[in-house]
Amino acid sequence: MVDHGAPFFEGSDPRFLEIVRSWVDSDACAEWRPSRGTWNDGSLRSKSDATPVFVGTPSMGALMAHLSSGLEVRTDSAVTSIQPHKGGWMLRLGEREEAGPFARVVLTGPPEQIGRLINDHPVRFGDRLGALASRPVWVLMAIVADELKGLPDILDVESDMAIEKAVRDDAKPQRQRTEGRSRWVLHACSEWSLPRYEAPREGVEKELCTELTRVLDTRKRLLSARAHRWGLARPARVMAGERCLIDVEAGLIACGDGMGGEGVEGAWLSGVAAAGAVAGAP
Ligand SMILES: Cc1cc2nc3c(=O)[nH]c(=O)nc-3n(C[C@H](O)[C@H](O)[C@H](O)COP(=O)(O)OP(=O)(O)OC[C@H]3O[C@@H](n4cnc5c(N)ncnc54)[C@H](O)[C@@H]3O)c2cc1C
Repeated sequence: MVDHGAPFFEGSDPRFLEIVRSWVDSDACAEWRPSRGTWNDGSLRSKSDATPVFVGTPSMGALMAHLSSGLEVRTDSAVTSIQPHKGGWMLRLGEREEAGPFARVVLTGPPEQIGRLINDHPVRFGDRLGALASRPVWVLMAIVADELKGLPDILDVESDMAIEKAVRDDAKPQRQRTEGRSRWVLHACSEWSLPRYEAPREGVEKELCTELTRVLDTRKRLLSARAHRWGLARPARVMAGERCLIDVEAGLIACGDGMGGEGVEGAWLSGVAAAGAVAGAP
């Protein structure tokens, strides 16, 4: 299993760090102190950064399973529309199914996906949501027939290339390691990913494999490589001011990393702000 989305997360907000500690205590998450380095046109420099990062254990997805335990979560059905119903909202799931009515609806995720659900309705925060956008990221997951022990666990690429980051997936806590091999996840930068949004996967894979060979300095056998496109990966810009959008009269709240700040911490802070709005807190 490879973490092909967020490879790890960091935090600085004391409230977030406190909750992360509770995830660590429940063994749903672990602190990781990776070695770090930078790569610039073939020159490798190690970086001293003692700040710990966090990973879900034994996978990033396992953290979500922990967070949703005891909750009714449906992962198999998309909400295709929301319709006003007697002062509340009915949700349409897929083609035919409905859920509700609900007095309030919290919509979370990339602004484009939230927009698809609210654009037919007069929602107060429609314009502010419409001003937000996401950017794509192509990712390459690769297994190399070499442990590449001289390379740091996290490598930031400073050269003007497709790849901006390489993370050694099997160096993370509670991950399976195979002797004589290493498992990597490489992230392309958005500037490179955007014009290749609709590009066939095979072509993108080939381009990223060529860069992998340069950055990881491996002429050794690449055992497998697979590219994956995250279309709405990261916020193009983060909303200033509040951490979520609220229309009290309509009973709609929008949240996500585009509103709370980049990354898992920002998404969490946005979720907390949304929860406060549901509970009626200031
Ligand atoms: C390649 C990549 C690398 C990243 N690296 C990092 C990193 O190093 N550190 C870090 O902190 N963060 C990183 N992130 C970002 C991190 O994953 C996000 O910040 C976080 O997941 C945002 O959470 P969210 O709840 O706002 O949205 P999401 O995680 O996008 O969750 C929204 C959910 O809603 C679902 N959904 C959307 N529309 C509907 C619908 N109509 N019906 C039903 N369900 C719907 C989606 O399927 C999704 O599961 C990375 C992301 C990617 C893709």
